[in-house]
Amino acid sequence: MEHIQTILSGFLMASAMFTFFVFIYMFKQNNYITKYFAFFCLSITIYSFGYSMELYGNRFDKMLFWNYIQYLGLPFLPALWLIFSLEYNNKRTKTAIKAGIFLIPILTLFFRYTSNLNHLFYVSVQKTTNLFFPVLYIVKGPWYWVHAIYTTSCFIVVNYVYFFTYRKSTGSIRRQCLLLLIASLFPWISYLLDLLNISPLNIDWGAFAVTSSVAIFLVAYLRYQFLNIKPLARDKVFESTNDGIIVLDANNNVIDFNPSAEVIFPGLDENCIGKNIRMVFETNERLVDSILNCVEFQYESLSDYKKNYYRVQTVKILESRDRGVGFLITFNDITKYMNMMEELNHLASRDALTGVYNRRYFAELSSLELSKSRRYNMPASLIILDLDFFKQINDNYGHQAGDTVLKEIADICRKSIRSIDILGRYGGEEFVIFLPNTKLEDCRMVSNRILNNIASAVICYEGKSIKVTASIGTSGVEFVSDENLDHFLKTADQALYQAKLDGRNCLRSSGG
Ligand code: GH3
Ligand code: MG
Ligand code: MG
Repeated sequence: MEHIQTILSGFLMASAMFTFFVFIYMFKQNNYITKYFAFFCLSITIYSFGYSMELYGNRFDKMLFWNYIQYLGLPFLPALWLIFSLEYNNKRTKTAIKAGIFLIPILTLFFRYTSNLNHLFYVSVQKTTNLFFPVLYIVKGPWYWVHAIYTTSCFIVVNYVYFFTYRKSTGSIRRQCLLLLIASLFPWISYLLDLLNISPLNIDWGAFAVTSSVAIFLVAYLRYQFLNIKPLARDKVFESTNDGIIVLDANNNVIDFNPSAEVIFPGLDENCIGKNIRMVFETNERLVDSILNCVEFQYESLSDYKKNYYRVQTVKILESRDRGVGFLITFNDITKYMNMMEELNHLASRDALTGVYNRRYFAELSSLELSKSRRYNMPASLIILDLDFFKQINDNYGHQAGDTVLKEIADICRKSIRSIDILGRYGGEEFVIFLPNTKLEDCRMVSNRILNNIASAVICYEGKSIKVTASIGTSGVEFVSDENLDHFLKTADQALYQAKLDGRNCLRSSGG
Protein backbone atom coordinates (compact mmCIF):
# COMPACT_ATOMS: atom_id res chain seq x y z
CA MET A 1 0.00 0.00 0.00
CA GLU A 2 2.84 2.28 -0.82
CA HIS A 3 0.60 4.63 -2.76
CA ILE A 4 -1.25 5.71 0.42
CA GLN A 5 2.12 6.87 1.73
CA THR A 6 2.83 8.66 -1.57
CA ILE A 7 -0.62 10.27 -1.68
CA LEU A 8 -0.38 11.59 1.88
CA SER A 9 3.18 12.76 1.43
CA GLY A 10 2.37 14.29 -1.98
CA PHE A 11 -0.67 16.04 -0.56
CA LEU A 12 1.45 17.60 2.18
CA MET A 13 4.08 18.63 -0.36
CA ALA A 14 1.37 20.35 -2.40
CA SER A 15 0.09 21.95 0.81
CA ALA A 16 3.58 23.21 1.59
CA MET A 17 3.78 24.75 -1.88
CA PHE A 18 0.36 26.31 -1.45
CA THR A 19 1.17 27.82 1.96
CA PHE A 20 4.51 29.02 0.58
CA PHE A 21 2.74 30.93 -2.19
CA VAL A 22 0.30 32.35 0.36
CA PHE A 23 3.35 33.39 2.41
CA ILE A 24 4.82 35.30 -0.54
CA TYR A 25 1.45 36.83 -1.46
CA MET A 26 0.72 37.97 2.10
CA PHE A 27 4.24 39.21 2.69
CA LYS A 28 3.96 41.49 -0.33
CA GLN A 29 0.76 43.10 1.00
CA ASN A 30 1.44 46.53 2.33
CA ASN A 31 0.05 45.89 5.76
CA TYR A 32 1.72 44.86 9.00
CA ILE A 33 -1.01 42.44 10.14
CA THR A 34 -0.62 40.42 6.93
CA LYS A 35 3.08 40.09 7.76
CA TYR A 36 2.15 38.08 10.87
CA PHE A 37 -0.14 35.96 8.77
CA ALA A 38 2.65 35.54 6.18
CA PHE A 39 5.04 34.19 8.81
CA PHE A 40 2.29 31.96 10.13
CA CYS A 41 2.07 30.51 6.60
CA LEU A 42 5.86 30.15 6.41
CA SER A 43 5.94 28.16 9.64
CA ILE A 44 3.23 25.88 8.21
CA THR A 45 5.24 25.52 4.99
CA ILE A 46 8.31 24.33 6.90
CA TYR A 47 6.19 22.05 9.06
CA SER A 48 4.28 20.54 6.11
CA PHE A 49 7.37 20.19 3.96
CA GLY A 50 9.32 18.51 6.76
CA TYR A 51 6.46 16.22 7.61
CA SER A 52 5.84 15.38 3.98
CA MET A 53 9.49 14.28 3.66
CA GLU A 54 9.29 12.38 6.98
CA LEU A 55 6.23 10.50 5.75
CA TYR A 56 7.87 9.77 2.42
CA GLY A 57 11.04 8.50 3.98
CA ASN A 58 11.50 4.83 4.78
CA ARG A 59 14.87 4.99 6.45
CA PHE A 60 14.97 5.90 10.13
CA ASP A 61 17.85 8.42 9.85
CA LYS A 62 16.15 10.22 6.95
CA MET A 63 12.83 10.33 8.78
CA LEU A 64 14.55 11.69 11.86
CA PHE A 65 16.36 14.33 9.81
CA TRP A 66 13.08 15.64 8.37
CA ASN A 67 11.52 15.54 11.79
CA TYR A 68 14.23 18.00 12.89
CA ILE A 69 13.46 20.23 9.91
CA GLN A 70 9.75 20.25 10.82
CA TYR A 71 10.58 21.68 14.19
CA LEU A 72 12.05 24.80 12.60
CA GLY A 73 8.44 25.78 11.86
CA LEU A 74 6.06 23.81 14.04
CA PRO A 75 6.72 25.34 17.51
CA PHE A 76 6.17 28.90 16.23
CA LEU A 77 2.82 28.18 14.67
CA PRO A 78 0.64 28.74 17.78
CA ALA A 79 2.60 31.90 18.70
CA LEU A 80 2.18 33.49 15.27
CA TRP A 81 -1.41 32.44 15.16
CA LEU A 82 -2.06 33.98 18.56
CA ILE A 83 -0.36 37.29 17.73
CA PHE A 84 -2.11 37.51 14.39
CA SER A 85 -5.53 37.03 16.00
CA LEU A 86 -4.75 39.54 18.74
CA GLU A 87 -3.74 42.10 16.13
CA TYR A 88 -6.72 41.32 13.94
CA ASN A 89 -9.05 41.75 16.89
CA ASN A 90 -7.46 45.06 17.85
CA LYS A 91 -6.14 43.80 21.16
CA ARG A 92 -3.29 46.07 22.08
CA THR A 93 -0.26 43.88 22.78
CA LYS A 94 3.00 45.38 23.89
CA THR A 95 6.19 44.33 22.09
CA ALA A 96 7.49 42.76 25.32
CA ILE A 97 4.37 40.55 25.53
CA LYS A 98 4.75 39.59 21.87
CA ALA A 99 8.36 38.60 22.56
CA GLY A 100 7.24 36.67 25.67
CA ILE A 101 4.81 34.65 23.55
CA PHE A 102 7.82 33.34 21.60
CA LEU A 103 9.70 32.15 24.70
CA ILE A 104 8.12 28.67 24.90
CA PRO A 105 8.47 27.99 21.13
CA ILE A 106 12.17 28.90 21.27
CA LEU A 107 12.69 26.56 24.25
CA THR A 108 10.73 23.85 22.43
CA LEU A 109 13.04 24.19 19.44
CA PHE A 110 16.02 23.98 21.77
CA PHE A 111 14.73 20.92 23.64
CA ARG A 112 13.78 19.18 20.40
CA TYR A 113 17.32 19.64 19.09
CA THR A 114 18.89 18.55 22.36
CA SER A 115 16.40 15.74 22.94
CA ASN A 116 19.07 13.06 22.45
CA LEU A 117 21.01 14.50 25.38
CA ASN A 118 18.32 15.39 27.88
CA HIS A 119 15.23 13.47 26.68
CA LEU A 120 13.07 16.38 27.74
CA PHE A 121 11.09 16.63 24.53
CA TYR A 122 11.19 13.10 23.16
CA VAL A 123 12.09 10.37 25.61
CA SER A 124 12.71 8.10 22.64
CA VAL A 125 12.04 7.90 18.90
CA GLN A 126 11.74 4.68 17.04
CA LYS A 127 10.75 3.53 13.66
CA THR A 128 7.56 1.51 13.54
CA THR A 129 5.02 0.68 10.89
CA ASN A 130 1.34 1.52 10.81
CA LEU A 131 -0.82 -0.76 8.73
CA PHE A 132 0.72 0.49 5.51
CA PHE A 133 4.04 2.28 5.83
CA PRO A 134 6.79 3.17 8.28
CA VAL A 135 6.27 6.05 10.72
CA LEU A 136 8.12 7.40 13.71
CA TYR A 137 6.95 6.16 17.06
CA ILE A 138 7.55 8.76 19.72
CA VAL A 139 7.58 8.49 23.52
CA LYS A 140 6.73 11.98 24.70
CA GLY A 141 8.89 13.70 27.31
CA PRO A 142 7.89 16.34 29.92
CA TRP A 143 8.62 19.38 27.70
CA TYR A 144 6.37 17.88 25.03
CA TRP A 145 3.51 18.33 27.51
CA VAL A 146 4.61 21.85 28.39
CA HIS A 147 4.45 22.69 24.70
CA ALA A 148 1.12 20.88 24.44
CA ILE A 149 -0.36 22.99 27.25
CA TYR A 150 1.11 26.12 25.66
CA THR A 151 -0.34 25.27 22.25
CA THR A 152 -3.74 24.43 23.73
CA SER A 153 -3.75 27.72 25.66
CA CYS A 154 -2.93 29.64 22.50
CA PHE A 155 -5.79 27.91 20.69
CA ILE A 156 -8.19 28.74 23.52
CA VAL A 157 -7.24 32.43 23.51
CA VAL A 158 -7.44 32.58 19.70
CA ASN A 159 -10.90 31.04 19.68
CA TYR A 160 -12.03 33.26 22.51
CA VAL A 161 -10.97 36.50 20.80
CA TYR A 162 -12.64 35.52 17.53
CA PHE A 163 -15.76 34.49 19.37
CA PHE A 164 -15.75 37.74 21.34
CA THR A 165 -15.38 39.87 18.19
CA TYR A 166 -17.96 37.72 16.42
CA ARG A 167 -20.49 38.43 19.18
CA LYS A 168 -19.97 42.15 19.38
CA SER A 169 -19.55 42.92 15.68
CA THR A 170 -22.03 43.33 12.90
CA GLY A 171 -22.31 42.94 9.14
CA SER A 172 -19.36 41.71 7.08
CA ILE A 173 -16.97 41.85 10.05
CA ARG A 174 -19.23 39.35 11.79
CA ARG A 175 -19.17 37.03 8.76
CA GLN A 176 -15.38 37.30 8.48
CA CYS A 177 -15.09 36.50 12.13
CA LEU A 178 -17.26 33.42 11.80
CA LEU A 179 -15.01 32.15 8.98
CA LEU A 180 -11.87 32.82 11.01
CA LEU A 181 -13.43 31.19 14.05
CA ILE A 182 -14.22 28.04 12.03
CA ALA A 183 -10.71 28.12 10.53
CA SER A 184 -9.15 28.21 13.96
CA LEU A 185 -11.21 25.27 15.19
CA PHE A 186 -9.68 22.74 12.72
CA PRO A 187 -6.10 22.46 14.01
CA TRP A 188 -7.33 22.70 17.57
CA ILE A 189 -9.54 19.65 17.12
CA SER A 190 -6.88 17.63 15.26
CA TYR A 191 -4.32 18.58 17.92
CA LEU A 192 -6.64 17.45 20.71
CA LEU A 193 -7.28 14.12 18.95
CA ASP A 194 -3.53 13.70 18.59
CA LEU A 195 -2.97 14.39 22.29
CA LEU A 196 -5.66 11.86 23.14
CA ASN A 197 -3.82 9.37 20.91
CA ILE A 198 -6.71 9.21 18.47
CA SER A 199 -4.75 9.52 15.26
CA PRO A 200 -5.64 7.13 12.46
CA LEU A 201 -2.62 5.54 10.74
CA ASN A 202 -0.49 6.90 13.59
CA ILE A 203 0.26 10.06 11.69
CA ASP A 204 0.02 13.72 12.64
CA TRP A 205 -3.14 15.06 11.02
CA GLY A 206 -2.39 18.53 12.34
CA ALA A 207 -0.34 19.35 9.25
CA PHE A 208 -3.40 18.67 7.07
CA ALA A 209 -5.66 20.65 9.40
CA VAL A 210 -3.54 23.82 9.43
CA THR A 211 -3.41 23.83 5.63
CA SER A 212 -7.22 23.79 5.53
CA SER A 213 -7.16 26.71 7.96
CA VAL A 214 -4.88 28.68 5.65
CA ALA A 215 -7.27 27.97 2.77
CA ILE A 216 -10.23 29.30 4.79
CA PHE A 217 -8.18 32.34 5.89
CA LEU A 218 -7.36 33.01 2.26
CA VAL A 219 -11.04 32.86 1.30
CA ALA A 220 -11.85 35.29 4.14
CA TYR A 221 -9.08 37.59 2.96
CA LEU A 222 -9.96 37.59 -0.70
CA ARG A 223 -13.69 37.66 -0.18
CA TYR A 224 -13.99 40.22 2.57
CA GLN A 225 -10.62 41.95 2.24
CA PHE A 226 -10.57 41.53 6.00
CA LEU A 227 -7.16 43.03 6.39
CA ASN A 228 -7.70 45.84 3.96
CA ILE A 229 -6.92 49.42 4.65
CA LYS A 230 -10.39 50.40 5.87
CA PRO A 231 -10.40 48.85 9.33
CA LEU A 232 -6.73 49.73 9.67
CA ALA A 233 -7.38 53.34 8.84
CA ARG A 234 -10.26 53.35 11.31
CA ASP A 235 -7.97 51.90 13.91
CA LYS A 236 -5.37 54.52 13.20
CA VAL A 237 -7.98 57.26 13.60
CA PHE A 238 -9.14 55.72 16.87
CA GLU A 239 -5.60 55.55 18.21
CA SER A 240 -4.26 58.86 16.99
CA THR A 241 -7.15 61.31 17.04
CA ASN A 242 -7.02 64.15 19.57
CA ASP A 243 -10.65 63.45 20.33
CA GLY A 244 -11.16 61.17 23.29
CA ILE A 245 -13.29 58.13 22.39
CA ILE A 246 -14.95 55.71 24.78
CA VAL A 247 -17.02 52.75 23.65
CA LEU A 248 -19.76 51.26 25.84
CA ASP A 249 -21.64 48.02 25.37
CA ALA A 250 -25.42 47.71 25.53
CA ASN A 251 -25.25 47.48 29.35
CA ASN A 252 -23.33 50.77 29.57
CA ASN A 253 -20.08 49.01 30.47
CA VAL A 254 -16.81 50.42 29.13
CA ILE A 255 -15.39 48.10 26.46
CA ASP A 256 -12.79 50.30 24.78
CA PHE A 257 -11.19 53.73 24.87
CA ASN A 258 -8.38 55.47 23.03
CA PRO A 259 -5.16 57.11 24.33
CA SER A 260 -6.70 60.61 24.08
CA ALA A 261 -9.51 59.54 26.41
CA GLU A 262 -6.85 58.41 28.91
CA VAL A 263 -5.31 61.89 28.75
CA ILE A 264 -8.67 63.58 29.38
CA PHE A 265 -9.54 61.20 32.21
CA PRO A 266 -6.31 60.21 33.98
CA GLY A 267 -8.23 57.64 36.08
CA LEU A 268 -9.31 55.76 32.96
CA ASP A 269 -7.20 52.60 32.64
CA GLU A 270 -7.44 48.89 31.81
CA ASN A 271 -9.21 48.29 35.15
CA CYS A 272 -12.16 50.31 33.91
CA ILE A 273 -12.82 47.80 31.10
CA GLY A 274 -16.06 46.00 31.90
CA LYS A 275 -17.08 48.58 34.52
CA ASN A 276 -20.32 50.51 34.27
CA ILE A 277 -19.89 54.09 33.06
CA ARG A 278 -21.67 55.31 36.21
CA MET A 279 -18.92 53.77 38.31
CA VAL A 280 -16.13 55.08 36.08
CA PHE A 281 -17.47 58.66 36.18
CA GLU A 282 -19.11 58.43 39.59
CA THR A 283 -18.24 62.03 40.48
CA ASN A 284 -19.81 63.42 37.35
CA GLU A 285 -23.46 62.51 37.30
CA ARG A 286 -24.44 65.17 34.76
CA LEU A 287 -21.88 63.89 32.28
CA VAL A 288 -23.16 60.31 32.63
CA ASP A 289 -26.78 61.42 32.30
CA SER A 290 -26.02 63.30 29.10
CA ILE A 291 -24.13 60.27 27.71
CA LEU A 292 -26.89 57.79 28.47
CA ASN A 293 -29.53 60.12 27.03
CA CYS A 294 -27.34 60.83 23.96
CA VAL A 295 -27.56 64.56 24.67
CA GLU A 296 -24.69 66.87 23.74
CA PHE A 297 -22.81 68.14 26.79
CA GLN A 298 -19.99 70.54 27.54
CA TYR A 299 -17.47 68.96 29.88
CA GLU A 300 -14.92 71.11 31.68
CA SER A 301 -11.81 69.65 33.25
CA LEU A 302 -9.08 71.26 35.26
CA SER A 303 -5.54 69.98 34.83
CA ASP A 304 -2.42 71.80 36.04
CA TYR A 305 -4.63 74.80 36.85
CA LYS A 306 -5.57 74.93 33.17
CA LYS A 307 -9.17 74.66 32.14
CA ASN A 308 -10.01 72.41 29.22
CA TYR A 309 -13.35 72.26 27.47
CA TYR A 310 -14.78 69.27 25.61
CA ARG A 311 -17.88 68.87 23.54
CA VAL A 312 -19.25 65.45 24.47
CA GLN A 313 -21.35 63.68 21.86
CA THR A 314 -22.81 60.23 22.19
CA VAL A 315 -24.16 58.08 19.39
CA LYS A 316 -25.95 54.81 19.79
CA ILE A 317 -24.32 51.93 17.93
CA LEU A 318 -27.14 50.12 16.22
CA GLU A 319 -26.92 46.53 15.04
CA SER A 320 -30.22 46.60 13.26
CA ARG A 321 -32.75 49.39 12.91
CA ASP A 322 -33.79 49.35 16.54
CA ARG A 323 -31.36 47.08 18.36
CA GLY A 324 -28.68 49.09 20.13
CA VAL A 325 -25.45 47.24 20.91
CA GLY A 326 -23.63 50.09 22.61
CA PHE A 327 -22.59 53.71 22.64
CA LEU A 328 -19.75 55.63 21.04
CA ILE A 329 -18.79 58.68 23.10
CA THR A 330 -16.51 61.35 21.63
CA PHE A 331 -14.83 64.11 23.60
CA ASN A 332 -13.96 66.88 21.17
CA ASP A 333 -11.43 69.31 22.60
CA ILE A 334 -12.90 72.81 22.14
CA THR A 335 -10.53 74.55 24.58
CA LYS A 336 -8.93 76.68 21.84
CA TYR A 337 -12.32 77.67 20.51
CA MET A 338 -13.66 78.51 23.98
CA ASN A 339 -10.57 80.55 24.84
CA MET A 340 -10.92 82.41 21.57
CA MET A 341 -14.59 83.05 22.28
CA GLU A 342 -13.65 84.33 25.71
CA GLU A 343 -11.01 86.58 24.15
CA LEU A 344 -13.49 87.85 21.56
CA ASN A 345 -16.11 88.50 24.25
CA HIS A 346 -13.52 90.32 26.24
CA LEU A 347 -12.49 92.46 23.28
CA ALA A 348 -16.09 93.14 22.32
CA SER A 349 -16.98 94.27 25.82
CA ARG A 350 -13.96 96.45 26.66
CA ASP A 351 -12.69 99.86 25.75
CA ALA A 352 -9.36 99.31 24.03
CA LEU A 353 -7.55 102.24 25.67
CA THR A 354 -8.56 101.96 29.31
CA GLY A 355 -9.67 98.32 29.61
CA VAL A 356 -12.95 99.27 31.32
CA TYR A 357 -16.30 98.22 29.80
CA ASN A 358 -17.32 100.00 26.61
CA ARG A 359 -20.58 101.88 26.48
CA ARG A 360 -22.58 99.06 24.90
CA TYR A 361 -21.49 96.39 27.36
CA PHE A 362 -21.83 98.82 30.28
CA ALA A 363 -25.45 99.42 29.26
CA GLU A 364 -26.09 95.67 28.95
CA LEU A 365 -24.70 94.82 32.39
CA SER A 366 -26.25 97.83 34.11
CA SER A 367 -29.68 97.15 32.67
CA LEU A 368 -29.45 93.61 33.98
CA GLU A 369 -28.55 94.87 37.45
CA LEU A 370 -31.27 97.45 37.29
CA SER A 371 -33.94 94.85 36.59
CA LYS A 372 -32.67 92.81 39.57
CA SER A 373 -32.90 95.92 41.78
CA ARG A 374 -36.40 96.53 40.46
CA ARG A 375 -37.50 92.99 41.30
CA TYR A 376 -36.13 93.13 44.85
CA ASN A 377 -37.07 96.79 45.47
CA MET A 378 -33.52 97.85 46.07
CA PRO A 379 -31.80 101.23 45.69
CA ALA A 380 -29.44 102.02 42.79
CA SER A 381 -27.18 104.92 41.80
CA LEU A 382 -25.15 106.09 38.87
CA ILE A 383 -22.12 108.34 38.49
CA ILE A 384 -21.04 110.26 35.38
CA LEU A 385 -17.54 111.66 35.60
CA ASP A 386 -16.05 114.17 33.15
CA LEU A 387 -12.48 115.38 33.29
CA ASP A 388 -12.06 119.12 33.61
CA PHE A 389 -10.37 121.06 30.82
CA PHE A 390 -9.08 117.87 29.33
CA LYS A 391 -8.67 119.50 25.96
CA GLN A 392 -5.93 121.59 27.52
CA ILE A 393 -4.00 118.50 28.60
CA ASN A 394 -3.99 117.32 25.03
CA ASP A 395 -2.99 120.76 23.86
CA ASN A 396 -0.25 121.19 26.45
CA TYR A 397 1.27 117.73 26.63
CA GLY A 398 0.10 116.03 23.48
CA HIS A 399 -2.48 113.36 22.67
CA GLN A 400 -0.31 110.50 24.00
CA ALA A 401 -0.10 112.20 27.37
CA GLY A 402 -3.91 112.59 27.27
CA ASP A 403 -4.20 108.82 26.68
CA THR A 404 -1.96 108.08 29.65
CA VAL A 405 -4.10 110.35 31.83
CA LEU A 406 -7.28 108.54 30.70
CA LYS A 407 -5.73 105.18 31.59
CA GLU A 408 -4.68 106.45 35.02
CA ILE A 409 -8.13 107.93 35.70
CA ALA A 410 -9.78 104.60 34.74
CA ASP A 411 -7.43 102.91 37.21
CA ILE A 412 -8.24 105.35 39.99
CA CYS A 413 -11.96 104.83 39.40
CA ARG A 414 -11.56 101.03 39.41
CA LYS A 415 -9.68 101.14 42.70
CA SER A 416 -12.23 103.45 44.31
CA ILE A 417 -15.28 101.24 43.77
CA ARG A 418 -16.52 97.75 44.77
CA SER A 419 -16.13 94.78 42.49
CA ILE A 420 -19.89 94.60 41.94
CA ASP A 421 -19.97 98.18 40.65
CA ILE A 422 -19.92 98.52 36.88
CA LEU A 423 -17.40 100.93 35.38
CA GLY A 424 -17.52 101.98 31.73
CA ARG A 425 -16.11 104.58 29.39
CA TYR A 426 -19.03 106.72 28.39
CA GLY A 427 -17.32 108.92 25.83
CA GLY A 428 -14.00 110.67 25.15
CA GLU A 429 -13.02 111.76 28.66
CA GLU A 430 -16.19 110.69 30.39
CA PHE A 431 -16.65 107.65 32.61
CA VAL A 432 -19.81 106.16 33.98
CA ILE A 433 -20.31 103.93 37.04
CA PHE A 434 -23.43 102.00 37.96
CA LEU A 435 -23.67 101.16 41.66
CA PRO A 436 -26.21 98.43 42.42
CA ASN A 437 -27.89 98.36 45.84
CA THR A 438 -26.43 101.82 46.66
CA LYS A 439 -28.37 104.80 47.97
CA LEU A 440 -27.61 108.26 46.58
CA GLU A 441 -26.04 109.22 49.89
CA ASP A 442 -23.51 106.39 49.65
CA CYS A 443 -22.99 107.11 45.99
CA ARG A 444 -22.04 110.68 46.87
CA MET A 445 -19.50 109.33 49.35
CA VAL A 446 -17.94 107.17 46.68
CA SER A 447 -17.98 110.10 44.25
CA ASN A 448 -16.23 112.37 46.69
CA ARG A 449 -13.60 109.70 47.26
CA ILE A 450 -13.05 109.47 43.51
CA LEU A 451 -12.82 113.26 43.12
CA ASN A 452 -10.26 113.43 45.92
CA ASN A 453 -8.24 110.53 44.56
CA ILE A 454 -8.14 112.18 41.13
CA ALA A 455 -7.31 115.63 42.45
CA SER A 456 -4.48 114.31 44.58
CA ALA A 457 -3.00 112.11 41.86
CA VAL A 458 0.14 113.19 40.03
CA ILE A 459 0.33 111.54 36.64
CA CYS A 460 3.79 111.25 35.16
CA TYR A 461 4.34 111.36 31.43
CA GLU A 462 7.84 111.53 29.92
CA GLY A 463 9.22 113.20 33.03
CA LYS A 464 6.40 115.68 33.27
CA SER A 465 3.90 115.71 36.15
CA ILE A 466 0.31 116.21 35.10
CA LYS A 467 -2.49 117.12 37.46
CA VAL A 468 -6.14 116.86 36.58
CA THR A 469 -9.52 117.25 38.24
CA ALA A 470 -12.95 115.91 37.40
CA SER A 471 -16.57 116.87 37.80
CA ILE A 472 -19.22 114.38 38.74
CA GLY A 473 -22.96 114.20 38.36
CA THR A 474 -24.80 111.52 40.31
CA SER A 475 -28.28 110.15 40.20
CA GLY A 476 -29.91 107.68 42.56
CA VAL A 477 -33.21 106.30 43.84
CA GLU A 478 -34.17 104.72 47.18
CA PHE A 479 -36.16 101.93 45.45
CA VAL A 480 -35.96 101.18 41.80
CA SER A 481 -39.48 101.16 40.34
CA ASP A 482 -39.98 102.10 36.69
CA GLU A 483 -36.74 104.05 36.17
CA ASN A 484 -34.65 102.72 33.33
CA LEU A 485 -30.96 103.24 32.62
CA ASP A 486 -31.66 106.21 30.36
CA HIS A 487 -33.39 107.94 33.22
CA PHE A 488 -30.29 107.55 35.42
CA LEU A 489 -27.97 108.71 32.64
CA LYS A 490 -30.11 111.73 31.79
CA THR A 491 -30.47 112.95 35.36
CA ALA A 492 -26.77 112.31 36.19
CA ASP A 493 -25.81 114.23 33.04
CA GLN A 494 -27.92 117.18 34.13
CA ALA A 495 -26.21 117.10 37.54
CA LEU A 496 -22.82 116.97 35.82
CA TYR A 497 -23.73 120.02 33.76
CA GLN A 498 -24.55 121.78 37.00
CA ALA A 499 -21.19 120.70 38.52
CA LYS A 500 -19.41 122.22 35.51
CA LEU A 501 -21.37 125.42 35.91
CA ASP A 502 -20.57 125.53 39.61
CA GLY A 503 -16.85 125.67 38.98
CA ARG A 504 -15.76 122.05 38.30
CA ASN A 505 -13.84 119.62 40.61
CA CYS A 506 -17.10 119.04 42.48
CA LEU A 507 -20.12 116.82 42.45
CA ARG A 508 -23.79 117.55 42.00
CA SER A 509 -26.67 115.19 42.45
CA SER A 510 -30.07 114.56 41.09
CA GLY A 511 -32.79 112.41 42.70
CA GLY A 512 -32.54 111.23 46.24
P1 GH3 B 1 -14.72 120.48 30.32
O1 GH3 B 1 -14.07 120.75 31.61
O2 GH3 B 1 -15.78 121.44 29.98
O3 GH3 B 1 -15.17 119.09 30.21
O4 GH3 B 1 -13.59 120.71 29.23
P2 GH3 B 1 -12.92 119.66 28.36
O5 GH3 B 1 -11.73 120.22 27.64
O6 GH3 B 1 -12.59 118.45 29.18
O7 GH3 B 1 -14.06 119.24 27.37
P3 GH3 B 1 -14.14 119.20 25.82
O8 GH3 B 1 -15.38 118.41 25.49
O9 GH3 B 1 -14.01 120.54 25.22
O10 GH3 B 1 -12.88 118.39 25.35
C1 GH3 B 1 -12.72 117.00 25.55
C2 GH3 B 1 -11.44 116.57 24.92
O11 GH3 B 1 -11.11 115.20 25.19
C3 GH3 B 1 -11.44 116.75 23.45
C4 GH3 B 1 -10.85 115.49 22.91
O12 GH3 B 1 -9.81 115.71 22.00
C5 GH3 B 1 -10.32 114.79 24.11
N1 GH3 B 1 -10.42 113.36 23.96
C6 GH3 B 1 -11.50 112.62 23.72
N2 GH3 B 1 -11.18 111.31 23.63
C7 GH3 B 1 -9.83 111.23 23.79
C8 GH3 B 1 -8.89 110.17 23.79
O13 GH3 B 1 -9.22 108.98 23.64
N3 GH3 B 1 -7.59 110.48 24.02
C9 GH3 B 1 -7.19 111.75 24.19
N4 GH3 B 1 -5.90 111.97 24.41
N5 GH3 B 1 -8.03 112.74 24.18
C10 GH3 B 1 -9.34 112.54 23.98
MG1 MG C 1 -16.78 115.80 27.93
MG1 MG D 1 -14.27 117.50 30.01
